[in-house]
Amino acid sequence: MTNALPLNEAQNCVLQHCVPLGTENIDLLQSLGRVLAQEVRSNRDHPPCDISAMDGYALRAADLGVVPAQLAIVADIKAGDLPTLTVQAGQCVRIMTGAPIPQGADTVIRVEDTQAIGADKVQIDVSAQAGKDIRRRAENLRTHDVVLTAGTEITPGVLGILAMVKAAEVHVQRRPRVAILSSGDELEGLHDAFDANKIPDANGYALMAQVQALGMQPVLLGIARDDPAELRAKLQQGLQYDVLLVSGGTSVGVHDFVRPTLEQLGVQMHFWRVQMRPGHPAAFGTTAGSKIFCLPGNPVASMVSFEQIVAPALRNMMGHARLYRRTVRARLTQPLSHRPGNLEFMRVTLSRDVNGYLATPTGSQSSGVLLSMARADALLVVPNESKGLAAGDTATVQLLDGSVFQEHSVFSLVL
Ligand code: AMP
Ligand code: MG
Repeated sequence: MTNALPLNEAQNCVLQHCVPLGTENIDLLQSLGRVLAQEVRSNRDHPPCDISAMDGYALRAADLGVVPAQLAIVADIKAGDLPTLTVQAGQCVRIMTGAPIPQGADTVIRVEDTQAIGADKVQIDVSAQAGKDIRRRAENLRTHDVVLTAGTEITPGVLGILAMVKAAEVHVQRRPRVAILSSGDELEGLHDAFDANKIPDANGYALMAQVQALGMQPVLLGIARDDPAELRAKLQQGLQYDVLLVSGGTSVGVHDFVRPTLEQLGVQMHFWRVQMRPGHPAAFGTTAGSKIFCLPGNPVASMVSFEQIVAPALRNMMGHARLYRRTVRARLTQPLSHRPGNLEFMRVTLSRDVNGYLATPTGSQSSGVLLSMARADALLVVPNESKGLAAGDTATVQLLDGSVFQEHSVFSLVL
């Protein structure tokens, strides 16, 4: 357990333990980003009958054998009407988008292709095939058909479908309750008095935002000093949550009490180190009811290890099938040095030219320089064995913004 685990093994390990937590019913209005826990069937045909796709005239296509043709307008039909008439040869009805097609009519001619002749006659200038500009009954939804399967992420479009089938309440996977704890004697809380010799707690808030970006509202437990009793009390509090994130104090320094205290509290640790940079001192443990992630104190390392290890775990707990941030290929605009032996995540901005994405490092790549992360659009993956990359070389980059995820980790793709 003292050896560093390759990142893909660390990811597999957390996914094995961080499984969906159960289901709940929630209001449709609060459901964006959640995952459906059951299939959804349509309770109606939509549209309920054949309707017009255009503003124009509904008529019999056979009447347009010779054009222009003049037809008698026998009715006006708008969306919401229930016409009972039958369109006869030589007749048409004026019809609005979404209005039911009356009996007898088999095509719609757009108003742009006609000329009014008085109030009750129209000249049609074009011919048409039967079925043109008609939206067929149930082309959108058919009664009893499964329209959404269990496991579907509720995107805005999915939410619209749920509203169509009148799912005012939806059955979804539960979200984990997440707590965040920062540890270190040197830390100054956001509302503590300013002390130039202290280190402001950035991790608690950056982690909070990373959790929020995944659609959860974490609880901030504040700062625990490097004092076994205080740390123990705070960790105990944190173990009441489904997930506890602790940053700092996880190394092997004499004041790093996180590891022994967790073990005293009965946490079973599964790994203590991960083969990646930044983020090497990342650890993971479990109790019967809680998953504990110990993240490095260095702010960039804390954020990068969250992205690689915690985010997929949280998404798995929420029931998502796509756990990993989207990756694309990008060309480097400048060389990058790299010592073989560690998978490395470089912080880059992305731009484009006609050949695709371009990646530019965001300055100092020290794991203490949080601005390198604050400025980044993406993490560029430098493989273990790489001896460095030249300007123009292509690499995999993991996009940091947005809500689009993919099924495959960076390992399943060309590195
Ligand atoms: P540690 O992992 O406790 O050895 O901390 C490594 C480095 O990260 C030290 O320079 C700490 O001051 C810094 N650090 C630890 N926790 C935080 C935090 N919550 N916010 C900002 N920096 C931190
Ligand atoms: Mg510390």
